[in-house]
Amino acid sequence: MCICINCKWVDRCKTYHDVEKNHEVEHLTSYPDVTAKNPIIHVNLVKEKTGNFSIEWDVRSCSSFYKEIGRWSKINDGVEVPA
Ligand code: SF4
Repeated sequence: MCICINCKWVDRCKTYHDVEKNHEVEHLTSYPDVTAKNPIIHVNLVKEKTGNFSIEWDVRSCSSFYKEIGRWSKINDGVEVPA
């Protein structure tokens, strides 16, 4: 799972903005202003139930990570956390 969902910078981060773009989901912000240091992104090819493949992008480590448990959920009240 992407560590960004528990990071204080998730709604300001340029790297997470790119992750959102790659997942083709709505952005938390149109103007990210935080540059993450040393983000390590895992890219996984996932086979869907339909037989189609999709690509998952997950930040697994980052020097700028600033722990705030549930940050993404606080911003997206009632929305399921992305896998
Ligand atoms: S963990 Fe790093 S890449 Fe993810 S939101 Fe925080 S600063 Fe950005």
